[in-house]
Amino acid sequence: MSAPAPTLVPVLRDLAATPFEAQVIAALPVDADDDPTPRAVPGVSLSRARPTPVVSPQLLAWSDALGEELGLARPAPGSAALAILAGNALAPGMQPYAARYGGHQFGRWAGQLGDGRAITLGELPSPMGDGAGATAYELQLKGAGMTPYSRHADGRAVLRSSLREFVCSEAMHALGVPTTRALSLVGTGEAVLRDMFYDGNARTEPGAIVCRVAPTFLRFGNYEIHAAFGERESLQRLVAHTLRRHYPHIDASDPAAPLHWLSEVCERTAVMVAHWMRVGFVHGVMNTDNMSILGLTLDYGPYGFLEGYDPQWTPNTTDAAGRRYAYGQQPQIALWNLSRLAGALRPLVDGDDGLHAALERYRDVFGRAHRTMSAAKLGLGSLAEPGDVEWLDELYGLLAATETDMPIFFRQLSALVPGVGAASARGDDAALLAPVRAALYDPDTLDAALAARWRQWLSRWQRRITHDLTHEKSSAELIVARMDAVNPLYLPRNYLAQEAIDAAEQGDLAPLQALMRVLQRPYAAQAGCEAYAARRPEWARQRPGCSALSCSS
Ligand code: AMP
Ligand code: MG
Repeated sequence: MSAPAPTLVPVLRDLAATPFEAQVIAALPVDADDDPTPRAVPGVSLSRARPTPVVSPQLLAWSDALGEELGLARPAPGSAALAILAGNALAPGMQPYAARYGGHQFGRWAGQLGDGRAITLGELPSPMGDGAGATAYELQLKGAGMTPYSRHADGRAVLRSSLREFVCSEAMHALGVPTTRALSLVGTGEAVLRDMFYDGNARTEPGAIVCRVAPTFLRFGNYEIHAAFGERESLQRLVAHTLRRHYPHIDASDPAAPLHWLSEVCERTAVMVAHWMRVGFVHGVMNTDNMSILGLTLDYGPYGFLEGYDPQWTPNTTDAAGRRYAYGQQPQIALWNLSRLAGALRPLVDGDDGLHAALERYRDVFGRAHRTMSAAKLGLGSLAEPGDVEWLDELYGLLAATETDMPIFFRQLSALVPGVGAASARGDDAALLAPVRAALYDPDTLDAALAARWRQWLSRWQRRITHDLTHEKSSAELIVARMDAVNPLYLPRNYLAQEAIDAAEQGDLAPLQALMRVLQRPYAAQAGCEAYAARRPEWARQRPGCSALSCSS
């Protein structure tokens, strides 16, 4: 009799018994003063800061996927691990700190900002060892209390914004978009006072803490502040640390190392923004203090996903007038932000030519990534034929002409691949326009002229696919599979997150759990989950939080 095949059960550790490191503390200039009172902290890269304990921690959500990657077990109620995630205790080796950074906010230098409510607990050596990915992951609590960088605020975060960050971090990861992760969402049992509409009507809301995870949370602003205050030695130490810890393949002794590094930051940022454009993500607050030096999506605030296609759309009501951070602005804003980082590196390099050359990498890589992803969304091998640029412009013009849900249109388009699916087999007019009709918010807006333009566009698309099928010997099924792998079916649309928030505020966590489950596999059709793939309902159009949001968090 043969023995049953062994099943692989990951060995998950107790966070409270897991040893942490604090290499960053030894590597960077640290504030000599332990006083948590908000103040200017010149010269240093970080200040030691202890989380402020909370009265009644409750685990509201846990990412099983990330827990397994880190080898950490879901904490039990009342456990020491839960106390750590609430800021009430520390694991061995943790030396918590708040980082000092500045930033350009809405185009203007804002001076010292820093981790006003985020406290990094420590570095967890990667359970995979040095071979795969990062060598260590930082665990950071957001909403853990005051630090020297809290300025006039309370160091806390509300459940609504914390739940949004938790959900979207993990959803973006599943979408294949580079991002910081989220391990846990903990209710504090304490009330937090917020003026959500900035209209003088503050109210108390439940407080919460997200435990974020990334190889580092360093932002452009960490480098900018040293440059802005003429802190050359601190800047040098910070860059040296960044290279050693996060870009070890760059030879730090090469005088051009900062330029090689900047080039890579440009490349990673370009890839990240191309993914944002692919899935319709709008960050909402692309200030330089929210730009990761690893090219990870960082700081989920008033973000949103495009529903009706509109390059001028932003979910952030604070940006409604200027629309600086609208969907279509993101590629050029990322470059503007990178230019601020390049400016901060001036003290470390000879002349500006190398910096300009590094910034050019952004244009090259973004252009290429965006073209490749656009082609993939359409199921095409490339978009390099004469007239393709105009043809794509026509598509986006049509999507914008009437309120047409971008994700739904692209997802439905694969049903028209010749040779697969009911829609392509029928070949009639109704079938051809089906992806458009499925995505329209108001069917009456599709007048005869627009319908004719759509027919023309879609017919050409079908001819292109047919051409690729015959010449590349690819199968229709393969093309559909490729399209469905880049056009998500499920997204954390703002109204879905808001429904989970409404329930969670009433103590019902089931909608949050259901949403997290669906978003873990955003490209695979899941039985019974049709509602999550639908157009935003009409009631959600004007309700705060469901489409547009303020920065209040
Ligand atoms: P954000 O809009 O979350 O990216 O934050 C911008 C800056 O304001 C950062 O320096 C934050 O640390 C700080 N900040 C935001 N909210 C708070 C808060 N409730 N308490 C302290 N600092 C905050
Ligand atoms: Mg921020």
